[in-house]
Amino acid sequence: MKTRRDFLLQSGMATAAMLLLTRENLPAQQQGPQPPQQPTAPSPAPSPAQPGSNPAVQPNPTLPDQLRTAAASETIKTTKLTDTIFLLQGVGGNVVCQIGPDGKLVVDSGISTGTNHLQDALSALGPQPLHLLVNTHWHFDHTDGNAALHLAGAFIVAQENTRIRLAAPQYMEVYDVHFPAAPDAALPQETFSDNNTLWINNDQENLVHAPSAHTDSDLFVHFVRRNVIHTGDLWFNGMYPLIDLSSGGSVNGMIRGVDQVIGLADERTKIVPGHGPLGNKAALQAYREMLVTVADRVEKLKAQGNTVEQAIAAKPTADLDATWGKGPLKPGTFVAIVYNSL
Ligand SMILES: [Zn+2]
Ligand SMILES: [Zn+2]
Repeated sequence: MKTRRDFLLQSGMATAAMLLLTRENLPAQQQGPQPPQQPTAPSPAPSPAQPGSNPAVQPNPTLPDQLRTAAASETIKTTKLTDTIFLLQGVGGNVVCQIGPDGKLVVDSGISTGTNHLQDALSALGPQPLHLLVNTHWHFDHTDGNAALHLAGAFIVAQENTRIRLAAPQYMEVYDVHFPAAPDAALPQETFSDNNTLWINNDQENLVHAPSAHTDSDLFVHFVRRNVIHTGDLWFNGMYPLIDLSSGGSVNGMIRGVDQVIGLADERTKIVPGHGPLGNKAALQAYREMLVTVADRVEKLKAQGNTVEQAIAAKPTADLDATWGKGPLKPGTFVAIVYNSL
């Protein structure tokens, strides 16, 4: 445990971005239905990298189209976590739904083309009306279904940077992806800065902002009485995480956010990651140790004067890749992201 890292401040300067989904969710071909929108917006990012020149970039600019194609035929897997809380897993980020006398509270909205599948899965949980949607952060794979769920009755709550980023064009450097501004119906109706508490469905739901973590808009949701936490993309269970530096993320902020979740959990807490299977405190602690180990090793290489290319060539994650390297990020890309965030 390197507790000094708990107290580090980070620069917040963005030089790279990260993405969202595991590759096995992507279709083999990319020619399905086109998304119903949107002219390509000009990049607001300063000096995007030349493809191939930046080791923190894995270019895949058609990724949103690929995900929308995959989600159109997705199958939602439903897992009961408690009597009132369910995990719904499809192509986008993990979705949680709580049911009760106040209606359905949903955390994250998936991909827009899969909304009909998501709504079918939600309907199967019970007759309660859709009441509230919480976004864990602004990323496409967690908010693309916002407009449809809002039009179906959901009031949307998020950290304030989620609304700010959704309301304007965004650029994610890691896959060289441009996102246009979201339509008004997709924007949160209520935002907050640090923390917000809901009292819904005979539970207490704490929405806790984790600053400069996976992005600058992250929150995790703690269902206090039911002992369930949705971490958003603070946690990619079993894989190197995406850290979106171009949205204000940082590895040290990720570690701090994870530490907040660990501090609230006990051995019985059901912890839902943004991506990957349902987890628990022990699995989150293992992930935390991986993050700290990589950050320390890369920080040392950087302090010794190595360039990012030299840091990658030193293979500081060689002993970790078999366990953590099967997600969307190549190990070298993850090292570059960590390097650029320190
Ligand atoms: Zn995600
Ligand atoms: Zn994300």
